Amino acid sequence: MSGVAVVTGAASGIGAAVVARLERDGWEVVGVDRIEGPGIISADVTSEDQLARAAAGLVGRRVDALVCAAGIWDRDDDRYTSVSDDVWHRTWAVNVTGTMLTLRAFAPLMGEGGSVVTIASMAAVSGIPKRDAYTASKGAVLALSRAWAADLIRLGIRVNTLAPGIVETPMTEHLDGAYASSLPLGRPATAAEVASVVAHLAGPESSYLNGVVIPVDGGLTAV
Ligand code: NAD
Repeated sequence: MSGVAVVTGAASGIGAAVVARLERDGWEVVGVDRIEGPGIISADVTSEDQLARAAAGLVGRRVDALVCAAGIWDRDDDRYTSVSDDVWHRTWAVNVTGTMLTLRAFAPLMGEGGSVVTIASMAAVSGIPKRDAYTASKGAVLALSRAWAADLIRLGIRVNTLAPGIVETPMTEHLDGAYASSLPLGRPATAAEVASVVAHLAGPESSYLNGVVIPVDGGLTAV
């Protein structure tokens, strides 16, 4: 497969693994992250202006795949019903508004055959206790993605969502080993295992998948 893919959250974890996987598969990848890094365009997904500048660098080119992997899980999002306003708004700004602004910036560069992949979470499917802001934001990412799937298919653009369980990335490094070994497979997913599903959704081999949510959670939400 060759084509141009834009990946947000490209500097770390799942996004970085997606960049590596798509490059290995022959894609030309444009990474976007608030953190600077080699081959990464610096942009905060909560800033429409910064995303517009990032997209302006691609004007005249066709974006074949857009992977929205930028996201946060605030460690202070740890109380039932009493999450702080600050954590609530920050989480929604990055995870929900950031995903929406990313699509708004890059969708005009996409067309027939394009593929958008969003990253929700098992939180969107089954909820995570005491993670009110994160859980609600990921439910919104899933709902938003389904709305796009219903809408953008008229332009030939598919939109699908991943709902990962626990993935070994900097976001989950605070979780203890006992929790990891209690997971159905006895370990978290690697970012590469998530990236391989993203790669399938990004390319034409998934051409009849639209509006689906794929749990990449080792069976966590099945039991
Ligand atoms: P990570 O912290 O390793 O990487 C997230 C990346 O997003 C970082 O590079 C960060 O700089 C970037 N980012 C954060 N806020 C940004 C902003 N405002 N603008 C631009 N970039 C920003 O985390 P990860 O585990 O790779 O998570 C990637 C996605 O997967 C997130 O949406 C996360 O919610 C989701 N997810 C992760 C897990 C997990 O267990 N790690 C599980 C389910 C879903």
